[in-house]
Amino acid sequence: MAKVRMRGASGAPGLLREVRKCFERIPDPVAGRKRVLADYLMSGLAVFGLKFPSLPEFDRNARTNETVRENLKHLYGIADAPCDTALRERLDAVEPAALRGAFKRVFAVLQRGKGLEGFTWLDHYLLSVDGTGYFSSSRVHCKRCCEKHHRNGEVTYYHQMLGAVLVHPEQREVFPLAPEAIGKGDGARKNDCERNAAKRLLARVRREHPHLKLLVVEDALASNGPHIRLLQSLDMRFVLGVKPGDHAHLFAWVDATRGTRTFEKTDAAGVVRQYRYLNGAPLDDANFDLEVNFLECRETRPGKRTQCFSQVTDVAVTEANAEDLMRAGRARWRIGNETFNTPENQGYGFEHNYGHGDNHLATVFAHLMMLAFLIDQVQQGSCRLFQAARARAERPLYFWDAVRSYVKTFRLRDWETLYGAIAFGIRPREPEICDSS
Ligand SMILES: [Zn+2]
Repeated sequence: MAKVRMRGASGAPGLLREVRKCFERIPDPVAGRKRVLADYLMSGLAVFGLKFPSLPEFDRNARTNETVRENLKHLYGIADAPCDTALRERLDAVEPAALRGAFKRVFAVLQRGKGLEGFTWLDHYLLSVDGTGYFSSSRVHCKRCCEKHHRNGEVTYYHQMLGAVLVHPEQREVFPLAPEAIGKGDGARKNDCERNAAKRLLARVRREHPHLKLLVVEDALASNGPHIRLLQSLDMRFVLGVKPGDHAHLFAWVDATRGTRTFEKTDAAGVVRQYRYLNGAPLDDANFDLEVNFLECRETRPGKRTQCFSQVTDVAVTEANAEDLMRAGRARWRIGNETFNTPENQGYGFEHNYGHGDNHLATVFAHLMMLAFLIDQVQQGSCRLFQAARARAERPLYFWDAVRSYVKTFRLRDWETLYGAIAFGIRPREPEICDSS
């Protein structure tokens, strides 16, 4: 068997066991059914965990291929995988907030397994908060869709969510916490908005992680008085973008103040960075009593155009920490690169392939996709066997192709057998060619 063994709790079996425990506690909105709700939720998670390109594709394999049914049992503990219609119906009734516990459990495993060691920056965890759209259609919609009414009478229906992801400027992995849906609540007529979602999300993050030292990084939309006061009330540090157009008063103050300091650094690659900073500047006219620390960096790479990055923070800026603060702010972009684009590029795309539902389905699927992504990231950070299998497959897409073909073709006793086979080319014992047509 493989020389590299799977790590207990931080490997797929340990993580999925924890997730299943949470799913089993969720009250079943549809009473009296033969299959338990946890089997439906685990099936939904398996769709995204194994990166099936669509729900019908998962359904076809789970129904016609006995090997796949066996493997779903051994890998995900699914006693009897439901068909796609039943899966959609049942998950449509699940309140998405009920899935948050699973994120918390996986995060607790990550912490206990020391997977967050070395993940601090400026003595805090960087929490990148950013919104993303995950569904948009002029035709398909549900009662939770936000609506945009166009002048020509057409309507665009859409769903968005606000992601909260731990990032680090120098690490590949990112760890999403449970996202916050931006959609219509029960009986609401008006669209929800990102600012309201941010209030709910940050308050919940603080409730769930009361002692986590967090430094929140967000874009310039967040640089307003009410939001900064909210962050302060939740004991969260911040680095937020600012723009000359939106924060003209602040920029004028910095330009006019004698105390504004400047310095310049050139790194080994010839990149010149000119810094300008001022501690204790009023955010704007309306929030004159709210003082922030301003930091700007003009970056010139050899042969490239100069770029300018401006931020406000509640960390006192010095020459010694200016670069780290700038990098913290720029790590915000990793959320886009790693969390939302990566899933689509690597085969998680779900906009039209998994169904929309009438109530919660679209949001439940978005949560399950994010949870599958978190589980992958924890394994990527902590499980050497997973890392070896990923490295062997060279590209993420090839890796997921290999995972699916093994799951369709061989009876696998466990995850160790699956990853071991991909990493070291060892054929699983008792190989069986699948009998599906
Ligand atoms: Zn909808």
